Amino acid sequence: MKPHPSRRAVLGAAPLAAALRLDDKPALLGGAPVRSEPFPAWPVFGEPEEQALLRTLRSGNWYRGNGGNVRRFEEAYARATGARRCLATCNGTSALFVSLNALDVQPGDEVVIPPYTFIATVNVVLRQFALPVFVDTDPETFQMDPGKLEAAITDRTRAIIPVHLGGNVCDLDRILAIARARNIPVIEDACQAHMAEWRNQKAGTLGATGCFSFQASKNLNSGEGGAMLTNDEALYERAYAFHNNGSGLKAIGSNFTYASTGHNLRLTEFQAALLLEQMARLDAQIRARSANGARLASLLEQIPGIRPARQYPGCTLNAYHLFMFRYDAAEFSGLPRDMFLKALRAEGIPASGGYSPLNTQPFLKNTLNSRGYRRLFSEKTLKEWPERTACPANGRLCSEAVWFTQNMLLGPRSGMDSIAAAIERIRRHAGSLARLASA
Ligand SMILES: *Cc1c(COP(=O)(O)O)cnc(C)c1O
Repeated sequence: MKPHPSRRAVLGAAPLAAALRLDDKPALLGGAPVRSEPFPAWPVFGEPEEQALLRTLRSGNWYRGNGGNVRRFEEAYARATGARRCLATCNGTSALFVSLNALDVQPGDEVVIPPYTFIATVNVVLRQFALPVFVDTDPETFQMDPGKLEAAITDRTRAIIPVHLGGNVCDLDRILAIARARNIPVIEDACQAHMAEWRNQKAGTLGATGCFSFQASKNLNSGEGGAMLTNDEALYERAYAFHNNGSGLKAIGSNFTYASTGHNLRLTEFQAALLLEQMARLDAQIRARSANGARLASLLEQIPGIRPARQYPGCTLNAYHLFMFRYDAAEFSGLPRDMFLKALRAEGIPASGGYSPLNTQPFLKNTLNSRGYRRLFSEKTLKEWPERTACPANGRLCSEAVWFTQNMLLGPRSGMDSIAAAIERIRRHAGSLARLASA
């Protein structure tokens, strides 16, 4: 793992501290905020998007059966990622859903997933009436802990879904090696990791499938949308049929015969038109996030009590859908995280505390206790499940995490300096803020 640089107190150096007004009162205590201008807005769009949407509207060809945008987008995204095949879907959840079905994951199977993810990763497993088995999180990287993966696998495990959370990449070398040794397919949930890289290959192209979301908050955006990548032609054909009501590539819209069961999970021509234009902006946005993310990490690593998520050595490009770090209240005079977040927002720096633990959500226990699950799994399996999927490191991480969103990394580098300055100012006045919190 890449070591932290030494904590040279760059921010604390006298001239810089004065320039950044680190000793000024925090905004929450009545001082002037570090930032008064907003971070870059999201989404980013202009004339090309307007024209593309108008062209599609006027063509009257609004779905993939009679237009060409979806096909063109699939080809462009496959080319950009180096995948052999891309299947566009109506969202990222359905890309995962298509993957599970194309890989024949069935009711009664087990699927291994991380607990530090968006809820969709869990929901697709439950919709398949399979058992989600959680692997604890490596708090250094915020990713699935590869050292704990092996213990989660049984002879009922039919898929592993690692998530490249926040655009950082999980330890694919170790995860893929464990999966290959047992012949278990890996579905990469790359919904937050467009164009991220593992050893210079794009995330989402190393597993059996890779799944992406183009929902409004994501780094590539069409409001809603998704895609599945694969290098396996037969799997692609099963996936295509499943997303098209079971109607396979050769049968589309023609003879009403079916290859399998399926759904309608197709992307529209409007979304594909938008995505093709948004892709033209992607390279510049990736470069900005990557440079600003690295800069911000190097600044925040110097502040006691702030530990940015690290990258595994194999991660050659972090897509920075989120900038994530751990906050240690002990280094901030015991200032609770919620109050730290509030103080940051007051300085003009929007921040959130991120996910809550998924493995202990009450709805999950209720689902596993339902009539269907009790038919599919033995009493022993369901009884042992809570302890088997306990994730103590993840629980701690959820209480310490702080996130910034990707759009904050799209502006000039001075924005990163303002974030670091706000945090350092809060740390210097943490005692007063903590007294305010307990008052
Ligand atoms: C956004 C997201 C999804 C689901 O994508 P949608 O397009 O919202 O359906 C799945 N997994 C992760 C990790 C995500 O961030």
